This record gives sequence, structure tokens and C-alpha cells, in this order.
Amino acid sequence: MLYGYGKAVLSAGNPQVVVVSNRGAYVLQEHGDTLIPKRTVGGLASAVEPVLTDYGGTWISWCGRLDNSGRKTGAMLEVPQADPRYHIQEVLLTEEEHTRYYHGFCNACLWPLLHQLPERCTFRQDYWEAYRLVNRKFARITLQTRKEIYWIHDFHLALVPQFLRCALPEAKIAFFWHVPFPPADFFQILPWGRQLIYGLLGSDLIAFHTPQYAQNFLETVARYYPVKIFREQGLIRFRNRRIIVSAIPVGINFHRFEQLAADPKVRLRAQEIRNSLGAEKILLGVDRMDYTKGIPQRLKALAHLLEQHPGYRGKVTLLQIAVPSRNGLGEYGALRQEVERLVGEINGHFDEVQGAIPVRYRYQSLDLPELVAHYLAADVLLVTALRDGLNLVAKEFVASRIDGRGVLVLSQFAGAAQELQGAVLANPHEPHDLARKIKTALEMPLPEQRSRLEAMRRVVKNHDVRWWWQSHFKIIKSLYPGTIPTPSAARL
Ligand code: UDP
Repeated sequence: MLYGYGKAVLSAGNPQVVVVSNRGAYVLQEHGDTLIPKRTVGGLASAVEPVLTDYGGTWISWCGRLDNSGRKTGAMLEVPQADPRYHIQEVLLTEEEHTRYYHGFCNACLWPLLHQLPERCTFRQDYWEAYRLVNRKFARITLQTRKEIYWIHDFHLALVPQFLRCALPEAKIAFFWHVPFPPADFFQILPWGRQLIYGLLGSDLIAFHTPQYAQNFLETVARYYPVKIFREQGLIRFRNRRIIVSAIPVGINFHRFEQLAADPKVRLRAQEIRNSLGAEKILLGVDRMDYTKGIPQRLKALAHLLEQHPGYRGKVTLLQIAVPSRNGLGEYGALRQEVERLVGEINGHFDEVQGAIPVRYRYQSLDLPELVAHYLAADVLLVTALRDGLNLVAKEFVASRIDGRGVLVLSQFAGAAQELQGAVLANPHEPHDLARKIKTALEMPLPEQRSRLEAMRRVVKNHDVRWWWQSHFKIIKSLYPGTIPTPSAARL
């Protein structure tokens, strides 16, 4: 079923891309007989969508609707409604698939495993079966859409490349893995690890955020398969095919963050936020409410700082934005309770009669201008993830600080730490170390802030989102010379 909005979407001469991911840039809402696409916010949507708005193509994803009727395919629409640029093709999931594949295998097994938290993993055969079935479903729907390049995203869909390869041996397939890839010893805990790796090896290119993740992947492949691996070149020879394994960290739309940071309305809003907190120094945390983000560890480090250095009481505030996430899972509710308990304890213990409240906590998500206003209002951004594939918030903060002020305290276990060498790197597992690093950040002289920011801004600007996806296509083109049209300049 095609719900068109009247305008032709696709332009001739550009490589046509099929993007495949669990969630896309839109969810579909039912209003009577009509389906309305609603834009979602998040890193994947903002990173990937410019490719489709520029080149045209199709985005295949689950759009938030559950359907137990046995229908094989969901809706196809053109988006954005006002100025159609590309198609979205919906994959429908049944309630049971959603529970076992998404909540089960993806969120309760793979997510903690890939973040090296095995005690949180649930290994269940029925979860694995559902994962296979749903991956097959995504592949079947993808095969109905023939385009030049298939670009598949993340650990939810690791089996899709091999399903596509079997049906279409000549397909050009790029895969981006958005989360950490753990060391081989660790990955092998997964009872279905071999099958998962086999699925990924259907790709022509498998890309990760850091060279370390890429090396971990190569090592894991070597454990399962007697293949030829050329580590220096990031090349695998597998059944007469060449597979490139590369580190291509996702970038942001640097220009957009700079623009927003210069917008007088956003700057005014930043000042309002500062005034409302009444603190001399503002620490900021912006994270999904997820146990990988190290929010309790950050709060404990703050408590430690206020304990050891009472002079900061009433002068420093931590503004914590916690974005609701995966509400259906019990442990996420438990995390929220723990965070809110710690916030209460710290405020109860360290609040002075006069001065700023130690922690201001907001359980909500912000739109982009509001987010940038928060980045500008802060003196220090705290990214204290126990493990994070990359962390876009860190890059967005750096891009927004056109004023040359601000310090980034960054977990050494976030992928972004590889690129953002100007950050104050910290170990979030150790509250004393983290508290010391926060103190260093609070007391950093302005010239040092400026020079560290400058170095980081150069990296984030050079490796922006356009660089990210052009790097993928360049590699695919090098593997299939002359078969893919040259892209036009991207509209960002
Ligand atoms: N984000 C947002 N509103 C918020 C908080 C975050 O739009 O209130 C966006 C943010 O701009 C970033 C993404 O969500 O692009 C979070 O990406 P990150 O890599 O930091 O963490 P993830 O949530 O993907 O683990």
C-alpha cells in the first residue's frame, strides 16, 4: 500500500540507497484510516537521514506499530509529507516478536553483552529464535526494494547481510555497528556468537566507531572461522569474497550545531537556564536513562566532591537531563528509582540554606534548540558512561561551544575518547578519580579550555556526518568500480 503525497521523490543519477534499521526517522500513527508519519529524535535519525533526503531511496524499519493479523508487509509512504524526498517502508512486528526479539534478545541479551555487563544478560533460546525470524523478515522486505547500495544498521539486524547475500550474491552491502564490539573472549560468551558473526560476514563493509572495536571483531572472526585476515588493511577473505572492516566513527552535523549556538534566541535561553539555577558553576549531564551511561556513578562522584571540598557547596549545581528510555523493561525502572533516590540523598545532605541546589534533575527529552541552549549554559559536560559505542552528546557539546569556553569530562570507556583527546578523561568506576577530574574541570583556566576545545572542534568538524557516510560509499565504490553513480553534493 502506497500512501503518496503527490510529489516525485527520486532523482536520477545518484546512488540509490536502502537503509535498514530497527527504528528509523519516523514512527507511524493511526488517525482513523490515515497513517501519519511522525518524526523521531535521536542520533541515528540525524546521522542517516541526510543521505536519503539528498540521494532519494528507501528506509526500511519498524515504525512502532504492532500487528498480530499475519499481514506480511507494512505501509510504504513518502516523507517528509510537505516535501517528499524518500520512501519509508514499514516492517510490522507481532507483539510476541517485539517482546522476544526487541526486549528479549536485543535489549536483555545483546545490549548488556556488547557493553561487557554479563551479569545483566538473559540467554534464552526463544529470544534467539525470535531474533532470527525478525531478521529474516527484515531481509525479505528489503529484497522487495532493489537499489544500488544496502546500508544496514546496528546489532538488532546482524543476520540481515547474509540473508541478503544468499538471495542476491551481487548485492553491495555496508553494515554499521553503532555500539561497542567487545574483545573476542568476551563475545564468545554469547551462545549464538558464531551465527551472528556469519550473518555479518554477508556484508562488503563492516564499520565500527573505533579501531579497537574493529580489531576485536577481526579477532572474533578468526576464533570462529578459518579465514584469511589481513589486520593492517582491515581485510577478510571469506569464501572468495573481500570484506573490509574499518573504523569510521559517526559524525554530527557540525554546521547545524554552530548555527544554533550562534542563534540569539538560543543564547538568550542559555542565559535563562543559567540564571534559573543560581549556581556559580554548572555541571551538565545529558543521557538516556540507561545503566551503561554511569548516572549513579556521576552522582556518587559529585557527593564525594562536595564531601571533600565543602567550599563547592551552594556554588556548584549538576543539571541532569535523563531521557526516558526502554520503559517496558523492569531494570530501567529500577535504575530510575536508584537515580532519584541518590538525587534526593545528595540534595538532602549537601543543600545549604543559601546558594545553589546540588542536583537539578529532569526526566524528559529536549528538542535540538533547547539541547544546544543547555550545552551553552554549562561550564562542564559530564559524560561518564561505563561503556558507550561513541557518545554523540560529547561531540555536540564541542560543536556548540563556539565561545571557546567549557570543559568536557569524558569516560575513557566511551568510543568518543579515541577522537576527543582534548577532553579530561576519567574512569567512572572510581568515584575518587571522577571527583578529582570534575574538580580539575571546574578549575581549568580559560586559555586551557580554549586550546583543548579548539583541538576537539577541529576533529569533530573534519569528521562530520557527511564525512561519515561518504566514507562508507567510497569504500563500497572501491570494491565495485564503475558500478555506482557518483554522488552529487550533499544537502546538509
Ligand atoms: N538527544 C536529544 N534530546 C535530548 C537528549 C539527547 O535529541 O534531550 C539526542 C542527542 O542530540 C544525541 C542523541 O540523542 O544525538 C544521543 O546520542 P548518544 O550517542 O549520546 O547516546 P545514545 O542515546 O545513542 O546511547
